[in-house]
Amino acid sequence: MKILRIALDVPLDEVFDFLPPAGAAAAIGRLVVVPFGRTRKVGVVVGESGSTEVPVERLKAVESVVGDIGAFTPDQLELFEFCSAYYQRPLGEVIAASLPPRLRQVSRRAIPAPVPEAANPALQSTHALTEAQAAALAAIQAGQGRFHPVLLHGITGSGKTEVYLHAIAESLAQGRQALLMVPEIGLTPQFEEHVRSRFPGTRVVSAHSHLAEGARAAGWVAAQCGAARIVLGTRLAVLMPFRDLGIIIVDEEHDPSYKQHEGLRYSARDVAVRRAQRLGIPVVLGSATPSLETCSNAREGRYTLAQLPARAAEGAALPRVSTVDTRADRPRDGLTFALLEAIKKRITRGEQSLVFVNRRGFSPVLFCRACNWHSTCTRCSANMVLHRRDNELRCHHCGRHERVPQKCPQCGAAELAPVGQGTQRVEETLREALPQARIVRVDRDSTSRKGALKEVLDQVRARAIDVLVGTQMLAKGHDYPHLTLVGVLDADSALFSADFRAAERLFAQLVQVSGRAGRGKAAGEVLIQTDFPGHPLYAAVARHNYDAFASEALEERRLAGFPPFSHLALLRAEAKKEGEPGDFLRAAAKAARVINPAIEVFDPVPAPLERKAGFERAQLLVRAASRADLQPFLRAWREALVAGGERRVRWSLDVDPQEV
Ligand code: ADP
Ligand code: ZN
Ligand code: ZN
Repeated sequence: MKILRIALDVPLDEVFDFLPPAGAAAAIGRLVVVPFGRTRKVGVVVGESGSTEVPVERLKAVESVVGDIGAFTPDQLELFEFCSAYYQRPLGEVIAASLPPRLRQVSRRAIPAPVPEAANPALQSTHALTEAQAAALAAIQAGQGRFHPVLLHGITGSGKTEVYLHAIAESLAQGRQALLMVPEIGLTPQFEEHVRSRFPGTRVVSAHSHLAEGARAAGWVAAQCGAARIVLGTRLAVLMPFRDLGIIIVDEEHDPSYKQHEGLRYSARDVAVRRAQRLGIPVVLGSATPSLETCSNAREGRYTLAQLPARAAEGAALPRVSTVDTRADRPRDGLTFALLEAIKKRITRGEQSLVFVNRRGFSPVLFCRACNWHSTCTRCSANMVLHRRDNELRCHHCGRHERVPQKCPQCGAAELAPVGQGTQRVEETLREALPQARIVRVDRDSTSRKGALKEVLDQVRARAIDVLVGTQMLAKGHDYPHLTLVGVLDADSALFSADFRAAERLFAQLVQVSGRAGRGKAAGEVLIQTDFPGHPLYAAVARHNYDAFASEALEERRLAGFPPFSHLALLRAEAKKEGEPGDFLRAAAKAARVINPAIEVFDPVPAPLERKAGFERAQLLVRAASRADLQPFLRAWREALVAGGERRVRWSLDVDPQEV
């Protein structure tokens, strides 16, 4: 008897046994449709067996084999199995994460077979590579045809993209495919256009969650059968199938958006390295501010280091960075005198300014001066944020919203005033101070309409805007040649965060946003408003000294025993009833200590957001000296937790958590 083992996207840790379909072959790796309970599901054949523990009378047969999709190769199935084991999630869920939504549907229209391209995969060259770029490219190419991880550490504007494109061209010339990963395509529409224009004769498909379903499914199939030569995608692209992948590039490898925060909590950067290792191909991790994990891998010689220490374009220098002491120059409505004057100066010179508002901890909250009441969400331990334009208070965690009250709900006083400077507030302040200036605000609210961000960026390039006010959306890879001033508001909160990665993130963000200034011929200037002008982190940003920052931060991590000097996992729990998450985690901690006393188990603590959407949330951190210790422990721990059968508490494991 031949039995097929099939992975299905259900929250169970097993594969399911089925009989082969009548009169058809269903080889390993094929997509199939199977009856499941009262419904049907799409699954993938992951194995075969001569026997089963399912009683024969209950054994069902595969209904049909999905004909328009090729089989997953052994390499791809191995990658899925690795992710399933490493991130402690069911295999069926991992495979579902690889499949675009349309291909998970039981009945759908067939995907038309992709037309193979009449290939001319040549790179349209613009300018000659600089010496540093040529050396970096050579360092990457030295590892053709084997696993070869390279950290491309290049300052902002050093021309990393040019190196990526040449490395990709080399892979295409060998008849192989290339995967280029970026943090968020939606934020960098120019980048996608640029890549396409540089490979005019080549099929480039993009892969991200904002694509229309049909386009995404077609791109996936084109990558699988090899018709697409370049895939440009966000984190989900790392799980896509390729016919013959020759290189993987991870741009902005430090970016937190490579980590998925629900379900399969994978790090696409880490999976990319694992995949390259398995395939025996080069993987390039590029950044101006590499993650400390990657930095340490390069320093210890596990990764090859290639550096681009200067800006590529002729005449473009790094901006001058300084701090504005907000204890002396008190900000009025968020802006110091020094920053306002600097902006005025730019306007008279016909140059542009960017005011960067660190959204976290910087949203306006409604506050009563008479009784100290402030607007909090009834369902979360978070403040409601004032959205003036809609006259609403909104919770940024659960989405609850209400009209702005006319008077204080607690004491009845009529004077409610906003505290904290959201982007809207800063925009208003600037408009009052600079009535002649053309000011535009860029944040999630103002760019929710499709194409809105691109319109603004086009206006900036056309010099129809004097001042941009915005959040981290503006920090990413856009190129504004006439922008010569960047002002940074309220960066300080991250200096004293409970999260051990907060400083690393702040440093990366400041370097990133500073990198927007002075990309053209005119010199750039960056002003950071702070209560702590002497802080070493700001000093490192001012000196453009990543290595000094990294050395100090790594030493702190080593002393505290945090990654990359240890490996972490976080058990999160939430429940409606107070106390239940804590009880659950205390029991889990006890179980953990029994499984392996060598694993360090911390005490349960409240989550950074202690209540969310009416749930109480808590978490428990565990730490191991090595992955080899952590992995078997996590498997045993999870089995014990599943066996515990807890139902009132929702829990999940996060391996290599990014936010603790
Ligand atoms: P990064 O990604 O490292 O921040 P980019 O790839 O965006 O930098 O390049 C910054 C600017 O330098 C771009 O405008 C690009 O066209 C230009 N550039 C890149 N390489 C060269 C080169 N070899 N010669 C001249 N200009 C270059
Ligand atoms: Zn009051
Ligand atoms: Zn809420």
